[in-house]
Amino acid sequence: MPRVLVAGGGLAGLAAATALAQSGCDVELAEARPFLGGRASSYPHQDETIDNCQHVLLRCCVNLLDLYARLGVADKVRFYREFFFIEPGGRMSVMKAGVLPAPLHFTGSFARLRFLGLADKAAIARAMLAIRRGTAPRTTMGEWLRGMRQTARAVSRFWGPVLVSAINEDLDRMAAEHGFQVFREGFLAGSGAHEMGVPAVPLSDLYARAPGVRIHYRTTATGVIEDSGRAAAVDCSGIPLAADAFVLAVPFERAGALVPGLRFDGWEHSPITGVHLWFDRPVTSLPHAALLDRTIQWFFNKSEGRYLQLVISASRSVLDTPRAEIIRMAVDELAEFLPVVRGVQVVKAHVVKEVRATFSAVPGLVRPGCESRWPNVFLAGDWTNSGWPATMEGAVRSGYIAAEAVSRYLGRPARFLK
Ligand SMILES: Cc1cc2nc3c(=O)[nH]c(=O)nc-3n(C[C@H](O)[C@H](O)[C@H](O)COP(=O)(O)OP(=O)(O)OC[C@H]3O[C@@H](n4cnc5c(N)ncnc54)[C@H](O)[C@@H]3O)c2cc1C
Repeated sequence: MPRVLVAGGGLAGLAAATALAQSGCDVELAEARPFLGGRASSYPHQDETIDNCQHVLLRCCVNLLDLYARLGVADKVRFYREFFFIEPGGRMSVMKAGVLPAPLHFTGSFARLRFLGLADKAAIARAMLAIRRGTAPRTTMGEWLRGMRQTARAVSRFWGPVLVSAINEDLDRMAAEHGFQVFREGFLAGSGAHEMGVPAVPLSDLYARAPGVRIHYRTTATGVIEDSGRAAAVDCSGIPLAADAFVLAVPFERAGALVPGLRFDGWEHSPITGVHLWFDRPVTSLPHAALLDRTIQWFFNKSEGRYLQLVISASRSVLDTPRAEIIRMAVDELAEFLPVVRGVQVVKAHVVKEVRATFSAVPGLVRPGCESRWPNVFLAGDWTNSGWPATMEGAVRSGYIAAEAVSRYLGRPARFLK
């Protein structure tokens, strides 16, 4: 049985390891931390387990869903068909698929959105047609939207809320190709592709088992040991772990140290800030909502309306803000959307600033493929050229792409990518 070593137990490493183990390889996984899941994981906070930040997916994330099926946890994700938008003051609009076939399935609810005027909607419809028909330009999404003469309100209340959270980057930094992809694959594709999946359990519960994979926790890959032009082993916390093939599935800022010559000149991170708020009584019955015109962009109802997780994507503006001030701002803003918040007690609050949440998806970034300088070492991670932005789906795609390359190298080609 061919032996494979995977370094890194985030979604990319887990996807590669699980797929290879299920196709008959003997797989070991070295993970630096004492848990799996990487950036999409949970940790104990006081008396409960909380996610480092809310993670959501769309039904079009078919590879991530395939991995959940392999891990036996596909039923732990709850899908929602409706997107709720709330304006300051509390007025709510709902976007959902209607009876028309794709790509017209949102037409009815889009026409009824109350936070946009007629001119905004006409401009959005025009741009959506161009996205459907055209090729993405090599500019930022913001520049493209200006060229499409979008109204200020269409940008701040529609394009921004959808895309900044999907790509984790500001419209004026985000490559237009990613913006096009979100709408093509999520919102213009077959009805159902847009449905939003929210894990119904802490993220760490999704990776409780990786069938057939031997996991070494607290084990850090520090270098590749070469023999006759191939990798013979990877040094893992001082112990050389030998294998026939290797997958390095570590974040890009770590990959450069393991693979000489792999360079990330000009690459930057884009941060995400999560604010966890616990109230003494329920403040909403909605499962989630996009919040318009303020710093906080989304809330997710984590437990009966008493525990909400608020998300700020591309959160550079609050990185230097003290946590206590972020909590004050978050509660004040939330009260504008959910007036009931004014009369309740915040019993607990917690802020997570993920400074290195994702790479910044600017135009012209050249993402490496899965090959490395060694014929039997392959790269995976949301930063590799997976065809998707830095997301859980992108990470799993990269893991499957690397696993397919390993299989080819081992002379037993297999197909994992959906
Ligand atoms: C706050 C936040 C919110 C997000 N929200 C969403 C969302 O809603 N939807 C979505 O799709 N995506 C979201 N993302 C992005 C998503 O989490 C990532 O794209 C994805 O999890 C990346 O997976 P990965 O396996 O490529 O990398 P990672 O998750 O970073 O995994 C790499 C693993 O390698 C380990 N490691 C590092 N160095 C070594 C070493 N030398 N040896 C061994 N192990 C090592 C790390 O400990 C880690 O476990 C979010 C990210 C963040 C931070």
